[in-house]
Amino acid sequence: MDSRISGHTGLLALIGSPVGHSGSPAMYNYSFARLGLDYVYVAFDIGEDQVKDAIDAMKTFRMRGMNVTMPCKTAVCQYMDHLSPAAQIIGAVNTIVNDNGVLTGHMTDGEGFVRNLADHGVEVKNKKITIAGGGGAATAIQVQCALDGASAISIFNRKDAFFHRTLETAEKIRKAVPGCQVEVYDIADTDKLTEEIHSSQIFVNGTVVGMKPMDGESVVKDLSAFYPGLVVADVVYNPEETRLLREAKAAGCTCIGGKGMLLWQGVAAFKLYTGQDMPVQEVKERFFS
Ligand code: NAD
Repeated sequence: MDSRISGHTGLLALIGSPVGHSGSPAMYNYSFARLGLDYVYVAFDIGEDQVKDAIDAMKTFRMRGMNVTMPCKTAVCQYMDHLSPAAQIIGAVNTIVNDNGVLTGHMTDGEGFVRNLADHGVEVKNKKITIAGGGGAATAIQVQCALDGASAISIFNRKDAFFHRTLETAEKIRKAVPGCQVEVYDIADTDKLTEEIHSSQIFVNGTVVGMKPMDGESVVKDLSAFYPGLVVADVVYNPEETRLLREAKAAGCTCIGGKGMLLWQGVAAFKLYTGQDMPVQEVKERFFS
């Protein structure tokens, strides 16, 4: 690493809190070295109240870009000169590209989800998708699936603080992608959830359910919802195989875990920063297996 850094080396960073556990610095720095790109990538632990300073610093240091994680994903939007279509609808940004002081905000989480599915041979175009969740990950997935041609999206959330956001997202998608039919339901309605999964080709868990310490739980209580050939994807990557995926697999479903989404959102951001393709296969083997 030391021998790679010179007076010309460009800087990229992850901002948010916490960031110490992030795999992004390893993934990006490996890829820069592998492709001979003169950049380094570090992580800065900052709170929402420091977002403006971070954006100013980004411009001052002529950084090529920044990834943004919680709790800063929404707060950075107001400082962007342009927003990608997905970031515009979602109202959150996870990737900022700095073109000589002009900042463009992107949201690659949903793209990461869709590309992970494609990596497993599953396309979202013309598919009906049922998805549990109305938070950051679920919203990004809903918007990207609609932009990528899903025919219908049924969203289930519990009646907590996220429910209203789910209704708003549905309305925004209907406006931006009129061809995609979007409905919102209460996840407590188990019969409706089963009915919607039966008429879908893809089911997604986009909630925290299944993640430690909720790793003993699943959003699908009625196992008759699963049928052979249904694609079941989870955003949760810790544990790698959630209870949802275990039970869906036993029912003959095609199961896709959340780890690949992390990889592919990074692949999309890398392309935006450098214009080059991350060496995906090598990164997958080194950091994601
Ligand atoms: P969030 O806090 O924004 O949203 C939480 C969601 O979980 C909401 O929809 C909420 O209603 C729901 N929820 C919480 N408790 C629930 C319960 N007991 N029953 C039913 N629903 C419940 O969180 P987020 O940032 O969207 O993250 C959600 C999950 O996605 C986390 O596990 C996170 O690690 C994962 N994630 C994965 C990736 C990836 O690349 N694979 C990216 C982002 C987030």
